[in-house]
Amino acid sequence: MTSRTTFLGLGAMGSALAAATLDAGRPSVVWNRTPSRARTLGERGATVAETVEEAISGDGVIVVCLFDHQSVRAVVDPVAANLAGRTMINLTTTTPNQARGLATWAAKHGVTYLDGAIMAVPATIGRPGTAIFYSGPEAAFDKNRELLDLWGQSDYLGIDPGIASLCDMAMLVGMYTMFTGFLHGAAMVGAEGVSAVEFARRQAPFLAAMTGQLVGLAATVDAKDYAGVGQQSLEFTEVALDSLVTASLDQGVSVEVLRPVLDIVRRQIAAGYGRQGTARIVEELRKSR
Ligand code: NDP
Repeated sequence: MTSRTTFLGLGAMGSALAAATLDAGRPSVVWNRTPSRARTLGERGATVAETVEEAISGDGVIVVCLFDHQSVRAVVDPVAANLAGRTMINLTTTTPNQARGLATWAAKHGVTYLDGAIMAVPATIGRPGTAIFYSGPEAAFDKNRELLDLWGQSDYLGIDPGIASLCDMAMLVGMYTMFTGFLHGAAMVGAEGVSAVEFARRQAPFLAAMTGQLVGLAATVDAKDYAGVGQQSLEFTEVALDSLVTASLDQGVSVEVLRPVLDIVRRQIAAGYGRQGTARIVEELRKSR
């Protein structure tokens, strides 16, 4: 008989994970701090536990999807003594070091800890295109693969429990800076009455086309070959960014996001690299390590 999977945390994401598990016909126990959020899953066949102790009383895998690192500790600390020998899959977003800290906490209590990072929204859980990164013991990943694959494409990144989170956070840096760049542009054209929606219609395909440059940029960064032919030079980029700063200010738009990029480019030029490729920005960013 399949062990029941326990879900701690039934927010938007925890509920989606539990629902996909139930849909696959796997027995599940669910718990949430605010009990009303468990009702729908109960109607779909989940066993609703009133307490965390009750939820973890079986022998199945424990899936944790809470708000943040602090809420994970608040929920699992009081029951740590009951968790020995169990496997905990934590899909709560944490920093890499918080994930490593949880892995250390788990080892101290005899718990097998697998960390996960969800690269999706609740509505796409279980749908094609949804990726979830995992790190920690590979044996735990392999053993639970059938369960993990119910939620998305499971991608094992390595034994370091922090690496899934690190990759998640690094990817989100790209997302947030891209969104902020879009909003900056929307403010620029918005100053002339162009709607953000109209702007987005032009911006989205342009950005999608630009992502085609990433692989070439990455090869340059890995090879540290910034002097190679065909690269856009820092000097060229400086002129372009300077124009963007001027045009933004002319539109009354703040350059507090854009100006630091120009400053980075200028520092590299001042260091003598003006003729080299713009991918050298990464060297300036690495300096603060
Ligand atoms: P929600 O805000 O919908 O749910 C948060 C959950 O955490 C609720 O179950 C809430 O309980 C619980 N919680 C918060 N604080 C405590 C506490 N101190 N003790 C006990 N329970 C607590 O968030 P999501 O479900 O959307 O997100 C959950 C995790 O998934 C987050 O780490 C998030 O970053 C990650 N994630 C979410 C994505 C998304 O698009 N939603 C995408 C990728 C990752 P209660 O109902 O009682 O408030």
